[in-house]
Amino acid sequence: MAARALDGAAVAQAIRSEVAPSVASFTARAGRPPGLGIVLVGDDPASDIYVRNKLKSAGEAGLRADLKRLSASAPLEDLLALVEQLNHSESYDGILVQSPLPDAMGPDAERRVFDAIRPDKDVDGLHPANVGRLVQNRATLVACTPSGVIELLDRSNVAIAGARAVVIGRSDIVGKPMALLLLHRHATVTICHSRTADLPSVAREADILVSAIGRPAFVTRDFVKPGAAVVDVGTSQVTDRALVERLFPAGSKRRDAFERRGALVVGDVHPEVAEVAGALSPVPGGVGPLTIAMLLKNTVAAAQARAERTRGWGGTERRHGRERRLAAR
Ligand code: NAP
Repeated sequence: MAARALDGAAVAQAIRSEVAPSVASFTARAGRPPGLGIVLVGDDPASDIYVRNKLKSAGEAGLRADLKRLSASAPLEDLLALVEQLNHSESYDGILVQSPLPDAMGPDAERRVFDAIRPDKDVDGLHPANVGRLVQNRATLVACTPSGVIELLDRSNVAIAGARAVVIGRSDIVGKPMALLLLHRHATVTICHSRTADLPSVAREADILVSAIGRPAFVTRDFVKPGAAVVDVGTSQVTDRALVERLFPAGSKRRDAFERRGALVVGDVHPEVAEVAGALSPVPGGVGPLTIAMLLKNTVAAAQARAERTRGWGGTERRHGRERRLAAR
C-alpha cells in the first residue's frame, strides 16, 4: 500500500495563517511590522532561490523583509560589520545569514558570523546561546527546518513520544537540533552519519526516520521498517539523466518536470520507499515550505519577545498560544 503523504505545504499554510493575527497585532501596536534582515553573500543560484522564496513569503505574511547583498569577494570583516549593523537596528527583529558562505571567506566564517548575531535576533537558532538553550529544552529560537519537521509530525498525527527515531545526518543546522527536538518529545533517538556501520539496519529500527544528508535517493526500501513515518529533508539538484530515468518512470510528473527544465530537485529518499513506509514527506512540497513558515514564526516570536523586554508589553498572547498547544498534545 502506498504511504500516506505528509503534506508539508498544507501544514506550512496552516502555520502561516496562525502567524497572521500575531503579525497584525504586533504591527498595530508597534507601528511597524516585524522586521527580518536577510543577508546573502555571493551569487550561488540555489541560495538565490531560497532567499527569494523567504522574501516573498515574509512579504505575503505582512512582515518587513529586506535583502542585504554582499559580493562573493567581500571580506569576512564586511559581513561581520553588516551583522553588527543589523544587531543594533531597531527595524529588524530577526537576522538570517544565508549559508553556505563563499569558500573565500575562510573555513570558520560561518561559525564566526553565527556567533556574531545577537541571540535574540537569531531566527535560525544557530547562535551557541540558542543551541545551549535547545540542549536544555528551554529554547525560544530553534533552527527552522527541524522545528518544521516536528510541526509536520504533530499535525499529521504521528506519535513521537515512545517512538524509536533515527536521524541520518549530524549537521548543526539540521541533524543535531532534529535529534534534540525528538528527544525532548520523548522519542528514543539514534543519530547516524557517514561513519555509521550498517546504516540500513540501524535505520530499519525507526518508527520515525528523518534523513538529512543531501544524497539523492540514498534511503532505499531496505532502510525502512514497514509502516514507519519517513521525513525527507534532503534536497539535491540532479542533472544526471540516467539517475532521473532510474527513479521516475516515463510520463510521471517528476520525469516531465526534468524534461522541461533539464534538472530536478530530488530528496534523500528513494521513491520506492513509498511502498514500504506508512507515511512519507515528498520532495518538493514536504519540509521546504515548513522551513520558511517556521522562519516567519520565529521572526514574529523574536519581535514580540523584544517588545516585551524593551517596551514592557505583556506576554499574554504568546503564553496563551503556547498553553493551548501544550494542552492539545
Ligand atoms: P551537511 O551539513 O552537508 O550535513 C550532511 C550530513 O549528512 C553530515 O552529518 C554527513 O555525515 C551526513 N552524510 C553524508 N553522506 C552520508 C552517507 N553516505 N551516509 C550517512 N550520512 C551521510 O548538510 P545539511 O545542511 O544538514 O543538509 C542536509 C540536506 O538537507 C541537504 O540536502 C540540504 O539541502 C537539505 N536541507 C533542506 C532544507 C529544507 O528546507 N528542505 C533545509 C536545510 C537543509 P558526516 O557528519 O559524517 O560527514
